[in-house]
Amino acid sequence: MTERKKHLVILTTGGTIAAKASGPTDATGYHGIEFDGNALLDAIPGIRKSYETEVEQVFSLDSCSLEDHHLLTLSKRVNSVLEKEEIDGVVITHGTDTLEETAFFLNLTVKSEKPVVLTGAMRPAEVISADGPMNLLCAIQAAADAESRGKGVMVAFQNRLWPARDVMKLSTYHTDAFRCPEGGPLGTVIDEVRYNYATLRPHTVSSEFDVRELNALPRVQIVYQHIGSGEEMLRCAIQTRPDGIILACVGNGTVPPELKKALAPCPERPKIVRASRVPSGFISPCGNINDAEYRLIPSGGFSPQKARILLQLALTKTTDYEELCAIFDRY
Ligand code: ASP
Repeated sequence: MTERKKHLVILTTGGTIAAKASGPTDATGYHGIEFDGNALLDAIPGIRKSYETEVEQVFSLDSCSLEDHHLLTLSKRVNSVLEKEEIDGVVITHGTDTLEETAFFLNLTVKSEKPVVLTGAMRPAEVISADGPMNLLCAIQAAADAESRGKGVMVAFQNRLWPARDVMKLSTYHTDAFRCPEGGPLGTVIDEVRYNYATLRPHTVSSEFDVRELNALPRVQIVYQHIGSGEEMLRCAIQTRPDGIILACVGNGTVPPELKKALAPCPERPKIVRASRVPSGFISPCGNINDAEYRLIPSGGFSPQKARILLQLALTKTTDYEELCAIFDRY
């Protein structure tokens, strides 16, 4: 008996992977997003013979233009696609600039053990040595592999499979732009899929977050700290009355004493997460401010942009300070 071909849905959202290079040797310049999912598959010889593929364009945007409602739309779409028994997995093509945020959001809101793999490209289509087709092939191979079930949402890039929780874009230009600052890839895809590690934190079916009935997300902003930042931007952010703020502090999430007045806890103040702009490491209690006294939620090892996603989702469940801290600890 011949084995049934794996049935995958390829959802496209835009990004450089779907953009046409300005010229065959122009590795960075491109015209607008021109290629749809079928064109992306056409660049991989024989792919339709090996897999049953359905292609759907969810958006066609540079990922710097994505907003919270796009995250909700995409998560709902992935959930409804995966409910269909005949579908084995989903591949999502995405701009690399905010890919890690979308991947983390899906990691916490997709209610299925079936594989969900995101990918993109650093070089536009049709430039020499474009990386899109190989990245897409790896993502498809990973999404079709039985061992990918239950691994959480992953990012396929340059033959490696990265966990959505920890992966970051760490280069503006190199084709191996994605890494986990504190760990290695879950596995590799070099003709075949091989896993070496698993992620231990809650995700997908073990995550408590469910956005299937939500129409909006809590509003959370990031305030970046730097020499001379003072309290101005923090005060401006608080005045816009968001539900939460991520303070992207220096070093170990160090809060300058000059910010203490602006941070004074009161019922109207947004929930504030103390994070670090340093890409690697963990936020431990900070010497110059008491988190509990100032109601600051330590971000753990989450980057400001990942902490933003987690706070948005946490705020759909609770506004209690201790519970929010516990969520950051658990995830
Ligand atoms: N500008 C692109 C984006 O949509 C960058 C990329 O895809 O590599 O994020």
